[in-house]
Amino acid sequence: MRKTFGIIGLSFLVFSCAPQTAQKKKPEIPKPTTTSTTKTPVAPQKAASTTPVKPQVKRLGDYDFFTVNIADASKNDNTISHGSIVSANPSGYTIAKTYFPSLGQNYRQRYIILHYTALDDERSVRVLTTQSVSSHYLVGDQNDKEIYQLVDENKRAYHAGISSWRGIENLNDTSIGIEIVNPGYTTDSSGTRTFYAYPEWQFRKVAALVKDLVDRYQVPPTNLLGHSDISPTRKQDPGPQFPWERLYTEYGVGMWYDQATKDRFLNAPESQNFESQLLDSTFIFKYQTYLNQFGYGLLRSGNVDSATQKTIEAFQYRFRPQNASGVMDLETWAILQALLEKYPAK
Ligand SMILES: [Zn+2]
Repeated sequence: MRKTFGIIGLSFLVFSCAPQTAQKKKPEIPKPTTTSTTKTPVAPQKAASTTPVKPQVKRLGDYDFFTVNIADASKNDNTISHGSIVSANPSGYTIAKTYFPSLGQNYRQRYIILHYTALDDERSVRVLTTQSVSSHYLVGDQNDKEIYQLVDENKRAYHAGISSWRGIENLNDTSIGIEIVNPGYTTDSSGTRTFYAYPEWQFRKVAALVKDLVDRYQVPPTNLLGHSDISPTRKQDPGPQFPWERLYTEYGVGMWYDQATKDRFLNAPESQNFESQLLDSTFIFKYQTYLNQFGYGLLRSGNVDSATQKTIEAFQYRFRPQNASGVMDLETWAILQALLEKYPAK
């Protein structure tokens, strides 16, 4: 068992995951996908290692419709690992058609949010099961094959707090939360943070879990996020040591930029006098706009205010972890442009 980092970490977690009452906005409508139409069910334990079977989706107006009944486990694999179908039990009546084949349905689980607990294994379990904070899954610090589930995937867990991404707020309503046991960071006398690494075996646990969730709920790359992405002014987790690039390259989930596109922006003519633009409020407003369009809930001021610095830092934790200074620089700017080109906002 790892040494405890209890008192500081406990306050982080409790603060971070307190239940929120913010109003939700209209849920994001997923884009239609055209994937395999194979009807052969796939056993859930094989889902991570085989091509997942996904029902087709067609778009009518503003809404998506599945072309098969996703509640019917005989037609696709999506419900096999979803647990029970909950039905009403009205007095004097029966629910006659539990599997009535409506196409007009979709998953409520639209986002996956990764966290670190900043607590040891034992305290993480205790806090997440006995207080007002929670998560659907907890990946502990033991090198074994187990992952804890604390909340049913169909129910809401309290892990995100005040949060937003691409205009959607209160991500607790529509996300699966995964807490990872990791001490977080220490701060030296100069205020520099040193984050703790994730062991290889722990990363692989998280990656396998994320891959399974992404496949079953068809979570788009832009919706696999860290707590620091959706709450950049107050959260750092899962921090710069979490290997987001490997999730993309080895497991095919989440976002990452294309190197050639980044290089194109690095070498663009307007990048030659980059330093001279840094204090220009027009340029600051421009990169604030890009950060906002990419997803961060940043108010555009034209000034390098505290929220802007923390948002840049959160972006660097995720996409340029070697140097998360919170200062906009040419490489950060090139990566941001490359990502926005690859994952445009609607
Ligand atoms: Zn968190």
